[in-house]
Amino acid sequence: MGIALIAGAGMAGRACALTLRRVGWDGEIVLVGDEVTHPYDRPPLSKSVIVGTADMDKVVKPAPETYAQDRIDLRLGTRVEAVDAAARTAALSDGTSVAWDAFVLATGCAPRQLPIPGLERAHRITRMDEALALQALLAQGPQRLAIIGGGFIGMEAATAAVAHGHTATVLEAAPEPMARPLGREVAAHVLRWAQARGVDVRAGVAVESVAEAGVVLAGGEEVPADIVIAAVGQAPRLELAEALGCEIADGGVRVDAGLCTSVEGVWAIGDIAAFPSPWADEERIRVEHAAVAIGHGQVAAERIALGEGLYEDLPTFWSDQGDLTLNVVGVPRPDDEIVWRGDTETPACTAFYVRDGRMRAAMSVGDMKTLRGVRKLFAAGVEPPPAVLADPDTDLAALAAAG
Ligand SMILES: Cc1cc2nc3c(=O)[nH]c(=O)nc-3n(C[C@H](O)[C@H](O)[C@H](O)COP(=O)(O)OP(=O)(O)OC[C@H]3O[C@@H](n4cnc5c(N)ncnc54)[C@H](O)[C@@H]3O)c2cc1C
Repeated sequence: MGIALIAGAGMAGRACALTLRRVGWDGEIVLVGDEVTHPYDRPPLSKSVIVGTADMDKVVKPAPETYAQDRIDLRLGTRVEAVDAAARTAALSDGTSVAWDAFVLATGCAPRQLPIPGLERAHRITRMDEALALQALLAQGPQRLAIIGGGFIGMEAATAAVAHGHTATVLEAAPEPMARPLGREVAAHVLRWAQARGVDVRAGVAVESVAEAGVVLAGGEEVPADIVIAAVGQAPRLELAEALGCEIADGGVRVDAGLCTSVEGVWAIGDIAAFPSPWADEERIRVEHAAVAIGHGQVAAERIALGEGLYEDLPTFWSDQGDLTLNVVGVPRPDDEIVWRGDTETPACTAFYVRDGRMRAAMSVGDMKTLRGVRKLFAAGVEPPPAVLADPDTDLAALAAAG
């Protein structure tokens, strides 16, 4: 045993610290986070937190006293500034130095900076303090929102705001919002559902600047807004990994299935990790989703404490679009063939992503029964042909059980 130092008290870092104690690590645990809020679930920020409907005890969790009870030395409002792989020490922004035996990189992503004049006027929703600042403005009464970026986070904020009496215009550079993660066909339906809920989406537009009264598009048109939000994506924070000499690959810190980096005694988890997955064809994938971050944190803790554990989970994520929840399992690719089951109008349906005749992923909305069946099929390794998947009379769970 010794000292486990975790850089980043987000979703992956929190899971790692709590799991370390649970699996019997008796050494010191130092969890360093540069935010001032106790560790919290990040997904609600762009959904319930901004519109003020979140139950904060369920968002900021576990209860703050848990860290002291678990003998976790939680340093909030503190950055890991520098790290030395040979000496195995790290310098923190509070002026202290920590000598570590195991170092866990859990630094997540930083919001992308774009060279758009005036972009600093726009709100971001990547951290709790930013979401609370937005919440205070939305609480003042109906607002006109212009949201730059039609990814999941921009569309979530738009649908949540509209459902609470605000108006929202989403400005997206690509021809369709969300086409990169979901593929064009599925994204077109998601867009239609958002529009039916009152979100105004302007796709294929270029933002020239952010002005006091709104957003100026290329060509001079101004989209008036009381509040501008930038939801233009993010990039992994790799500075500490680079300082340690960790191999960087596929846009992240290259790790093995035990989340170990190329530097002995150093792990990388969550959004920054490029990891091998039995569910992806590619050699390594990097995934910015909550369930993956938590699973990574747990497996890294088992590795550190027990020397065993592999991350092999089926990737899953969800996105709330107003009253609709999209649930995705597997690793979809934008060019996969799409096979539908159910009613896309209600909507109560599932899109199966098919590659080489095999289901590789599925996106379900309002269709929990099919989603449960899909999970069971993946777990059992059963691969019904696409026509069988599409047939609403097929009981997928029964097919999985039959093997
Ligand atoms: C608004 C929003 C909505 C989302 N919605 C969903 C969703 O619906 N479904 C889903 O599956 N996923 C969602 N995600 C993604 C999910 O939250 C992330 O994948 C997850 O939080 C990643 O965990 P992480 O620990 O790697 O990074 P983070 O949770 O981002 O935590 C990293 C932490 O490290 C801190 N840090 C960075 N550098 C240092 C340093 N040097 N020293 C100390 N601290 C440092 C950061 O400030 C941050 O607090 C959403 C993300 C956002 C921002």
